[in-house]
Amino acid sequence: MPKSTLTAKSAAAFAIKQHRLQGVRYCPSPHVDARPDPNDISLLVVHGISLPAGQFGGEFITDLFLGELDCTAHSEFAPLEGLRVSAHCLIRRDGEIIQYVDFDQRAWHAGVSSWQGRERCNDFAIGIELEGTDNTPYTESQYQVLAQVAGALTKHYPRLSADRIVGHEDIAPGRKTDPGPAFNWDYFRSLLQQETQQEAQQED
Ligand SMILES: [Zn+2]
Repeated sequence: MPKSTLTAKSAAAFAIKQHRLQGVRYCPSPHVDARPDPNDISLLVVHGISLPAGQFGGEFITDLFLGELDCTAHSEFAPLEGLRVSAHCLIRRDGEIIQYVDFDQRAWHAGVSSWQGRERCNDFAIGIELEGTDNTPYTESQYQVLAQVAGALTKHYPRLSADRIVGHEDIAPGRKTDPGPAFNWDYFRSLLQQETQQEAQQED
């Protein structure tokens, strides 16, 4: 899939092969292990992250997920020393996607968490980070790309569906606040619905 089509409003924009988005930058994270049940991929968790907080565009998030962050590079990074975390994907402010973990593998993004009475959401969740903060509006490119990726994932993984997409704050309330009030769930869900409808029309 040529990169020029990635921003087109098409549910077919992202193909998934062998649990990877095709045509995106791939940086394998060592912070990964096997899911207890590789067939149970049934939740999509949306996160927000920036390093340092509120600064966008650098490589620090990728460094963190690859275990290569220089924790002396900024005073805010000291508490991150030794932290081993990852996510399946990051969507940057300009809509660029970086994938770090194959979707059938367990990424380490949710931490202590619970969804509908079930704990350890990393076991069965895909984690997507948006570069941002809780109170900075996410970009139009991020909404468009997230909706395209979510559309591709819900099509590819039958146990995932539009009503099984949550924020980190929803599965770790009181502990996590991302993606925060800046994330417009109504807008995201309307875009996802368009994706899904387009996909259905293409299959008619
Ligand atoms: Zn988070």
